[in-house]
Amino acid sequence: MRLRTSVAVAMGETFFMCRPEFYGVEYVINPWMEGNVGRAHRPLARQQWDHLHAVLARQATVEVIEPIRGLPDMPFTANAGLVLGKGFIPAHFRFPQRQPEVMHFTEWFRHRGYRIIELPGQPTFEGEGDALFQPGEPLLWGGYGVRTSLQVYRELTDVVDVEIIPLRLVDQRFYHLDTCFCPLPDGRIVYYPDAFDHDSLAAITARIPPDSRCEVTSADALHFACNAIVVGRTYIANFVSEALRAQLAAWDFEVVISPLTEFILAGGAAKCLALRLHHAAAAEVAKATRSDATVSERVVEVQGHLLDSGLMNTVLDCVTDGGGSFEIGTFQPGLRHDQDSHARVRVTAPSPERLDAILGRLMGLGARVADDEVDARLEVVTHAGVAPTDFYSTTIFPTDVRVAGRWVRARGQRMDAALVVDDAGAVPRARCRLLRDLGIGDRVVCGVAGVRVHPPPASSATDGFRFMSAGVSSERRVELAVERVAWEMRRVRQRAGKIVIVAGPVVIHTGGGLHLASLIRRGYVQALLGGNGLATHDIEHATFGTSLGVDLRRGSPVPGGHQHHLKAINVVRACGGIADAVRQGVIRSGIMYECVTHQVPFALAGSIRDDGPLPETHMDLLAAQAEYARLIEGADMILMLASMLHAIGVGNMTPSGVRLICVDINAAVVTKLGDRGSLDATGIVTDVGLFLNLLDTSLATNGLHPEAPHDLHD
Ligand code: NAD
Repeated sequence: MRLRTSVAVAMGETFFMCRPEFYGVEYVINPWMEGNVGRAHRPLARQQWDHLHAVLARQATVEVIEPIRGLPDMPFTANAGLVLGKGFIPAHFRFPQRQPEVMHFTEWFRHRGYRIIELPGQPTFEGEGDALFQPGEPLLWGGYGVRTSLQVYRELTDVVDVEIIPLRLVDQRFYHLDTCFCPLPDGRIVYYPDAFDHDSLAAITARIPPDSRCEVTSADALHFACNAIVVGRTYIANFVSEALRAQLAAWDFEVVISPLTEFILAGGAAKCLALRLHHAAAAEVAKATRSDATVSERVVEVQGHLLDSGLMNTVLDCVTDGGGSFEIGTFQPGLRHDQDSHARVRVTAPSPERLDAILGRLMGLGARVADDEVDARLEVVTHAGVAPTDFYSTTIFPTDVRVAGRWVRARGQRMDAALVVDDAGAVPRARCRLLRDLGIGDRVVCGVAGVRVHPPPASSATDGFRFMSAGVSSERRVELAVERVAWEMRRVRQRAGKIVIVAGPVVIHTGGGLHLASLIRRGYVQALLGGNGLATHDIEHATFGTSLGVDLRRGSPVPGGHQHHLKAINVVRACGGIADAVRQGVIRSGIMYECVTHQVPFALAGSIRDDGPLPETHMDLLAAQAEYARLIEGADMILMLASMLHAIGVGNMTPSGVRLICVDINAAVVTKLGDRGSLDATGIVTDVGLFLNLLDTSLATNGLHPEAPHDLHD
């Protein structure tokens, strides 16, 4: 290979370029190239490149590598690698079309005495296209997510003593960091916010104060205004809007436009065409103190029906959605339908906090962090009702905490709580506690180290019943589902188990009230949870025969019926409460009547839309939540009937292992319940009145087994 160097005016800065002799759009590896294959006009490209070269050569030294036939993207030298003093880290291109460029670039640098630094593991890395130094500061911005992998920045922390801030790119059009982010001297940047994910924007704004950040519009970004070469106080780009020009002028930069339309056909402009050989930041590298690695990684193990249940996809999506990246170390598929698969996955995240967040979610999916035999980190609560910042937030699944070398099972398992450890006694204890219940001095588990979660093993989707929630169930399927629920309810009651009903007022409007009352009467309900609406319309029906003013027997509105529910509330208030109204003979039928008569405890939680309310309705929501939690305790089965508000509320406070049946006409509501990740949940998409009618009939027809426990009524 013949290497040629041209040296222009030496001004302290040096760039590396490649003449576009063999340039062209010959394949598609980014959205810009789509539809442009064969459309680049090489002589015009050459003219544009010469202009850029001339502009640059007026201000800096430019070294040029001989182009190679058959490598049309070689002029985009910014992707050749990253230069660190006299060291060169070659690119490891994602797409095979560009991979042959590497040997030519590497040879050029080796020939000039550069030390070639190979990163272990060869993660994809597209050089200065993604890794950009902040001029004059020991700081490297690291783009990842489209071309370069996050792991690179983990490896780079062993090579370069500068702080690395990874930035995740989320728009394929801005596939390299230099297409949407341009660091400037004096700690300033020009960037296009929409190209980044939320956390990356937070990292940028945390680091660069508002008056040092210039956000460009999509018009600027799509014309490659951020893809600029900055030499001294000159900003060289294909395009710059008036607004951006004014901002740059205010910052004392002169803009030089160098049109590069032919290169934009391939998705690159000024910055892509020049690699910087000397960095002010790199010069300071030796002086900088070593910063802690922010890019963090852990290995997780996951086992189960990873393929047929789709769990493997969910796990990997969870990593990338959380801003991390993964590398599958081993994957052992189960070879038969009854065999588990097993995978070891290295998870990398831009910071320890984001790694913890990803691991927390993976643990909820059943993944186990490898080498987790460490004690949980405990931090003390200093403000009542406020957890330490990185507190571990619980799931519905049984959870162990490692305290003083032993694993302790947390008590009171529920979602969205903190884990409080009491290790004062001989046997350490752990308990889920709501944030508002945290007291000063409580020791709270922070991070995910020393925490193990035990979701039920992921099973294959063979049990059709449990997947009723997918789509609207046909009538026949609803009948079958009801049969199955009835069968389960009988079994629960035969062993004196506990069934809790959560119901909304729609139960009454659809005529399901009398069937629910029948279930209560016949001993299938051990606690009832609802709101003011359920009880109000039930009592309205018991006293006026209407629900929301509609005569339920005829299905037609009754004149003046809209006032019935208010009158019902008023009557109950006059009696002092629902129980008193039943005792005084004012309420003689219905759900609430059966609860009072058969001593089935109930809790009514208030809401902003409540009329009245009825005296029993808890308008103090904390008291309502506590009452709900008390009544759920020890439940074997919970039937949630047409109340999104109360069903989701109950779902959040119920540990896994409790059988949940959610009936709603809206598939989104039952899916939301299913999203708890619990296999104990079944959604049935149907009319709740019809469901209760069928259920009541089925339970009445088949009855209870003779050896049913005697606490059943009737
Ligand atoms: P919600 O929106 O949380 O739930 C209603 C659910 O019923 C929805 O998910 C909907 O899809 C579903 N649904 C509608 N028709 C259905 C049908 N035919 N079959 C099956 N599902 C059906 O509302 P909510 O739980 O009814 O009420 C929210 C709060 O407002 C509660 O606390 C309630 O007590 C209160 N509220 C008070 C009054 C009152 O005081 N007068 C009246 C109504 C509601």
